[in-house]
Amino acid sequence: MTYRTHTCSELNASNVGQNIKLAGWTARKRDLGGFIFIDLRDKYGKTQVVFDQSPELAQTARELHSEDVVQIEGTVRHRPDGMVNRNMKTGEIEVTAAVINILSRANHLPLEVEDEEEPGSELRLRYRYLDLRRPRMRKNLLLRHKALQSVRNFHTELGFIEVETPFLIRSTPEGARDYIVPSRERPGSCYSLPQSPQLYKQALMIGGIDKYFQLARCFRDEDLRRDRQPEFTQIDVEMSFVEEEDVFTHTEAMMQRLVKDTIGTDIQIPFPRIEYDDAISKYGSDAPDMRYELLIKRCDDFFSGSGFKAFENVINEGGGVFGICAKGKGGLSRKERERLEEPARTQGLAGLLSVPFTDKGLTGIIGKLFKEDKQTELCKHLSAEKGDLLLFAAGKVKLTLEALGRLRRKLAQLWDLEDKNELAFCWVVNPPLFEPIEDSDGITAVHHPFTAPNEEDIDKLESDPLNVYSRAYDLVLNGIEMSTGSIRIHDPELQQKVFKAIGIDNIEAKKRFGFLLEALSYGAPPHAGIALGFDRLVMLLAGETTIRNIIAFPKTNVASSLMDGAPAEIEPEQLRELGLKLIRNETAEDAEKAEK
Ligand code: ASP
Repeated sequence: MTYRTHTCSELNASNVGQNIKLAGWTARKRDLGGFIFIDLRDKYGKTQVVFDQSPELAQTARELHSEDVVQIEGTVRHRPDGMVNRNMKTGEIEVTAAVINILSRANHLPLEVEDEEEPGSELRLRYRYLDLRRPRMRKNLLLRHKALQSVRNFHTELGFIEVETPFLIRSTPEGARDYIVPSRERPGSCYSLPQSPQLYKQALMIGGIDKYFQLARCFRDEDLRRDRQPEFTQIDVEMSFVEEEDVFTHTEAMMQRLVKDTIGTDIQIPFPRIEYDDAISKYGSDAPDMRYELLIKRCDDFFSGSGFKAFENVINEGGGVFGICAKGKGGLSRKERERLEEPARTQGLAGLLSVPFTDKGLTGIIGKLFKEDKQTELCKHLSAEKGDLLLFAAGKVKLTLEALGRLRRKLAQLWDLEDKNELAFCWVVNPPLFEPIEDSDGITAVHHPFTAPNEEDIDKLESDPLNVYSRAYDLVLNGIEMSTGSIRIHDPELQQKVFKAIGIDNIEAKKRFGFLLEALSYGAPPHAGIALGFDRLVMLLAGETTIRNIIAFPKTNVASSLMDGAPAEIEPEQLRELGLKLIRNETAEDAEKAEK
């Protein structure tokens, strides 16, 4: 049988008089005694159906439960005068039903799908298939689909080919823990799920594929509290015979197209670029939010020898004093200014000195200690004008900059400086190649160990590795790192040197990355690439604040799927086949005992 001739968003005045069939969910029911109205809903929209042709039909409709699935046959007619609903696509018409078939009954739903309000997130994840009936979720998945198609079309038109790299691989380091899949054929050995297709896309370049892209699923077993998901999607790109400029131009054009194709907005390209060191010193972050100013400026020169002991001591101990100019905030009351100290402290600052720039110059301690011309100079240094508020903090350089970076964000939220409709992209370029490993003497790659060092720094790889800069780049959007990429090392010797710098000796390198080193020795083209966090991007385009709202079946922040109960224990037989024995986790055992 034909279930439907139209969808629930299609019918309008031009269909009046036609006999049609519709199928969908019973969204809303109104019982007017003699006859019944229901709103029939499907993916596309809603149509009002009236059961007024016979008492039997009306009785069947009366007995419908919310979310029962029905098919109706009927005739389209104009709604009576005064009943037209201009806010509804099908609001001019209604269908008078002649036949109703109940296709499926619905029990009372554990969550409300017609409500604008969000049900609790546990319920939503447990009953995700119901949550997906809500228009907002459907809209998000549609936007995601459009974004996927846009990326595919863009790359295909430019001659890129999409290659699916494997899921069962040998570990590729990207700084997180791997998800592990034990091998049955070789008990004791495991595959890793890819943290990224990094080495495969490089192998594709060595294979002469030249231009690759993939909407790649990646898996990272890491702390999920910060709105991350254990599996997520990247727009993964790699190109041969290219340099930074080529990657930037390519990515900017892709973003321009993607934003246009999804939300219809034109974005300005090229994106501004900022050196990594400048991002840290001006914004206190390697992912600066460019939507607002609140720039950080070092002010040591003004405070050393100023008589302001607290700051002088910090400078003498090798720390720094930093200032921020908050435009137009000079009029905040003392109480309001005091209230800024709390977020400053929670972000890790010892204190925050706030100084209004009034008609009489700078007030407070600085007004007392600084002569007029010094005050003028300090204001000039911070680009401050009358009516602004100057904020100062002092401490160890790196820690204070980072804390001010976080405070900057808090202040922007507090003062509502983040324009939700603005898409402020920027490139952060030229970061260091390595960083120290916390609580150890070792160093590790900031990006990943396949990133090329700056040519002029290569001779420092052994002697001064922490001062080697890299040919990596990050794309940042509204203070969120959207993508990261780099020019790759295509010389096996240089690759070996970088491994050595991070403590992977030749034997270990051969064991873990032997295939890469060998592959690089058979004629590797210079190549580079980038990977863009697709979920986060769609989240911003959809105006959502969590990536869970744009992933069809996301996991909780302890990486479980409430809908199907993954992860789940496996059968003893499966363990035997895999050659695995469980060592019971003590805390789990304790908990079990405690329960008994
Ligand atoms: N593989 C890198 C990542 O996932 C991106 C890249 O360097 O292309 O972060």
